[in-house]
Amino acid sequence: MKLVFRVTPKQRFIITGQAVEQMLAHVQRRFWHCEAGGVLLGRHLLDSYDVVVDEVTVPQSTDRRTRFSFFRSKKHETIAKERWEAEASTLAYLGLWHTHPEDSPTPSSVDMSDWVQAVAKDTFDGPRLFFLIVGRKEIRVWTKSCTDSIRELKCEAP
Ligand SMILES: [Zn+2]
Repeated sequence: MKLVFRVTPKQRFIITGQAVEQMLAHVQRRFWHCEAGGVLLGRHLLDSYDVVVDEVTVPQSTDRRTRFSFFRSKKHETIAKERWEAEASTLAYLGLWHTHPEDSPTPSSVDMSDWVQAVAKDTFDGPRLFFLIVGRKEIRVWTKSCTDSIRELKCEAP
C-alpha cells in the first residue's frame, strides 16, 4: 500500500506500494536483524508539485551493518546512476532510507549529521532531500533543504 506525506500545502511526498514493500522486507523484527538501508529513487511529477518514490536500493554486501548502525557503501550511488541511465534520466535521487530496531523510529544524532551532510554534498534536483526511517510499526519521514533545518512530514491517508 502506498504512503502519502504532506511536504507543503501544495506538495505531497508519495511512496509507491512497490517501494514500501522493498523497505518492509528489511524491518528489524528479530533481535539479530541488522539495520538496512539505501537510497530513494523516483520522480518530481510534472503536472503537480508532488514527489514520488518509485523504488529504493536495498542492502549491499559492501555496506557495514550492525543492529544499531548502518553505513551505506558507494555501491548505492553506482546503482542509482545505473537506474537513472536505464530509465532515460527520469529516475531521480530523492533521499535516503534505513531501518531502526524500534516501533516508532526516531533519528539519532549520527542520522541527523548524515542528513545534513547529504543535503550539503549530494547532487539532487529540487530544493530538498527526504529521509525515511523504517521502524517495526511505523515509517517516518523527515526533510531538509539547504536553507531549512530538519523537520518531520505529517502522514496523510492515501
Ligand atoms: Zn538511524
